[in-house]
Amino acid sequence: MAKSGFTSTILHADRRGGIKHGSIHKPVHTSVTYAYDDARELAAVFQGKKPGYTYGRQVNPTVTALQDKITLMEDGLSTTCFATGMAAIGTTLFALLRSGDHIVSSSFLFGNTNSLFNTFGTHGIDVTFVDATDVDQVAQAIQPNTRIVFTETIANPRTQVADLQGIGELCQQHGLVYIVDNTMTTPYNFRPKTVGASLVINSLTKYIGGHANALGGAVTDTGLYDWSAFDNIYDDYKGGAVNGWGMTQIKKKGLRDLGATLGPEAAHHISVGSDTLGLRAERAAANAAALTAYLSQHPKVSRVYYPGLPDHPQYERAKALFRHPGALFSIELTDAIDCFDFLNKLDLVICTSNLGDTRSLGIPVAHSIYYEMGPERRASMGIVDSLVRFSIGIEETEDLLADFGQALAD
Ligand SMILES: *Cc1c(COP(=O)(O)O)cnc(C)c1O
Repeated sequence: MAKSGFTSTILHADRRGGIKHGSIHKPVHTSVTYAYDDARELAAVFQGKKPGYTYGRQVNPTVTALQDKITLMEDGLSTTCFATGMAAIGTTLFALLRSGDHIVSSSFLFGNTNSLFNTFGTHGIDVTFVDATDVDQVAQAIQPNTRIVFTETIANPRTQVADLQGIGELCQQHGLVYIVDNTMTTPYNFRPKTVGASLVINSLTKYIGGHANALGGAVTDTGLYDWSAFDNIYDDYKGGAVNGWGMTQIKKKGLRDLGATLGPEAAHHISVGSDTLGLRAERAAANAAALTAYLSQHPKVSRVYYPGLPDHPQYERAKALFRHPGALFSIELTDAIDCFDFLNKLDLVICTSNLGDTRSLGIPVAHSIYYEMGPERRASMGIVDSLVRFSIGIEETEDLLADFGQALAD
């Protein structure tokens, strides 16, 4: 069959994986236990000599179907799902790194990832934070013990776009594992495999699930990294093909031993939500483009951060890499309007910390998700008190424009 488009492919993924009872959704398998009639067969499955299910912490058919769907989305080799996006990041790094190793990471990070990386420092794994929009800064931070380079695609809330292509080439030269958190762009807008990523992280909670009704996370191996060059793979996990070694270790040392397993009900919600990812991404990006064009002309708005605006420092890069510049943007307000009053006046925008939902969401950044950092750290990151972040949803464009208009009116 000819290779079909993103939505046609993922819509029919479950059905093509084997249809039972005519059910076009993969059923929610709630069983934790998998029974075998023949004890020899059970032994063969446990010894990895035969494919099969062992125990619900490691495997579940509903979760396997979602993993396969995400592998298709990312055009990858294999995927492992976790209870949350943070579990996917934390577990993957825990499984692959050892005391004495070093990570180079973008400094423009999701706040909890930043917090996690600081904790790694207390466990003997050092992290150097750099401005990942500039590949030279990444190159200068590489040490003999560097194992991994980690970056997001579009950072939140200021929307810096990492030099994803440049970092990919650098990692290839140095034989480093290149991990890209693709949550903000989603595999619909961007496939990190195209810039040489080794592993791709997605928080399924955000755009992929899309409806704020389930938590989940995933790591996908793109198949590009030569795991025989990675010193930390345990001998036990070097059995199969070399390009599978990394994921075997993430599954065994990570998912199995730490146990941050995605539940089958959540996997089902995420899978159904993901059917419309392409449609939602198109509509939300069109809304964000219309709103940022309007807001960048508004006298009460002093700055708009959105990679789709020509004055954004990485506008050309975003255009070259991504199908769309996404649906997340931030604005700074002038003294003429208070950020709390403005948010309270918005009718269609929900005040909340989440992003990637079908509904438009807004948050006063300095007073909420960046409050714990304190004023100095915020200033160093360019987070001013009036900064408001929006994750735009799929409402009608004219309704959103009217709502922002009335909330900014005198
Ligand atoms: C939300 C988010 C995460 C964490 O995902 P959870 O599912 O909330 O744990 C990781 N990375 C990015 C970029 C995110 O936006």
